Amino acid sequence: MRVVGLTGGIGSGKSTVSSRLGELGAVVVDADAVVRELQEPGMPVFDAMVDKWGSSIVQSDGRLDRAAVAGIVFSDPDELRALEAIVHPVLQTEIKARIAAQSDTEKTVILDMALLAEKNNPYGVTEIIVVDLAPAEQVDRLVRYRNFSTDDAEKRIAAQATREDRLALADFVIDNSGTLAQLHEQVDDLWATELAPR
Ligand code: ATP
Repeated sequence: MRVVGLTGGIGSGKSTVSSRLGELGAVVVDADAVVRELQEPGMPVFDAMVDKWGSSIVQSDGRLDRAAVAGIVFSDPDELRALEAIVHPVLQTEIKARIAAQSDTEKTVILDMALLAEKNNPYGVTEIIVVDLAPAEQVDRLVRYRNFSTDDAEKRIAAQATREDRLALADFVIDNSGTLAQLHEQVDDLWATELAPR
């Protein structure tokens, strides 16, 4: 097994890259997807969040109101720290377990995690792929495809590591300023030359 980190700013194209790598044969561990599972109603993380912020973060169907949570934590660094203190230890344990499940294989595990650039990594990541996009294009895609307001997109980008900090960690850089076809071509090439198990 080899564990390769995949990171990039919000809306940079990480999910698009990881799903392509999954099609090519990588085992993808998507940290956001794991967080969503941990935040399903009845899971300990969900319960701890409702204890902290009350019913205003629960939708009428009983599930987490993600927009309400984002509204709380992305305008107040203390609240963001409180959220991380609830989610991060459980997330870390779960990600480690999913990686450990591949340890006897020859697989390439891709750990898709925006926060790789912010956190020290306890996951045995030996190389990092950065999906790179200029901040102005990030804003443009978040507004165009994700229904963000320009202001929200800029705030979320400002709360993350800078483009330069991320690039400084990169062993492999994927430039996502072009078309989806160009993105796929780079991913296929990286897989064939660097990532596919030999
Ligand atoms: P998040 O940080 O929110 O998880 P992400 O980094 O995983 O986002 P994606 O979801 O892969 O980013 O991409 C963001 C949006 O931009 C998606 O709607 C995706 O289809 C689109 N997109 C990604 N790459 C390109 C591209 N090269 N051209 C046009 N649209 C793209």
